[in-house]
Amino acid sequence: SNRIVVKVGTSTIMYPNGSINLQRLEKLAFVLSDLKNQGKQVILVSSGAIGVGLSRMNLTERPVTIPEQQAIAAIGQTELMNLYSQFFYHYGHQIGQVLLTKDVIDFPVSRKNTANTFEQLLIKNVIPIVNENDTVSVEELDHLTRFGDNDTLSAIVLEITDADLLILLSDIDGFYDKNPMNHEDALLFDTIHEITDATYALANDSGSRFGTGGMTTKLNAAQQVLEEQKQMVLANGEDPTILFRILAGEQIGTLFI
Ligand code: ADP
Repeated sequence: SNRIVVKVGTSTIMYPNGSINLQRLEKLAFVLSDLKNQGKQVILVSSGAIGVGLSRMNLTERPVTIPEQQAIAAIGQTELMNLYSQFFYHYGHQIGQVLLTKDVIDFPVSRKNTANTFEQLLIKNVIPIVNENDTVSVEELDHLTRFGDNDTLSAIVLEITDADLLILLSDIDGFYDKNPMNHEDALLFDTIHEITDATYALANDSGSRFGTGGMTTKLNAAQQVLEEQKQMVLANGEDPTILFRILAGEQIGTLFI
């Protein structure tokens, strides 16, 4: 099909100093809008609610308690969607917010309702923007409600919407044989065909200041995608026009196939 899921990490939409990267957000809206104009069906999974919330509340650190973090996420989610809404509107596109909890994988009825919502949004030419429902998904009830990271969530969205290609935009050029932030001699993989324990061993987690995923959750996502005979690309979101090049079939980042 012609349906793609694009996920952006917090590091893609926030500056390292904790401010919102407006030109990045605007460029992302421009690129996704243009892909939509080309006839693609686009679903965006966006992290960043906590980052944006902290920035709006003039905080530099995540609060300690989970309820406080949930409050910050609620604030940030609203502001983030407000920004997306304005940028996408500027390029002629309507967005729809989809907040998911883990019951979409555990309960067939929830899953069906979610699939129906996506389907209708896409039929109406709307761009769904997805995040985890942080109000409902509490960390202590991990296994019950929480995906825990948007990498895994985006692989589930790919499955539910029966899209073929997941593109994860992050702050690195792809998957390396060691963490490139700590090792200058790290080598980029062009293509990965299977995820084994040996693959996971190459993903030493550090991650960005606000990000929660790291490389392990990206490999979890890739594993799910490969199990379903679908494809995933991990690439650098520094310049969102990279999406044009990926979809034109250029070998960029790491292709999981
Ligand atoms: P995002 O916010 O985009 O989800 P994360 O910060 O969670 O991004 O994950 C990306 C980070 O994973 C990279 O910046 C890098 O520091 C780290 N990383 C660890 N191991 C690897 C590896 N083998 N290849 C690439 N990146 C790695």
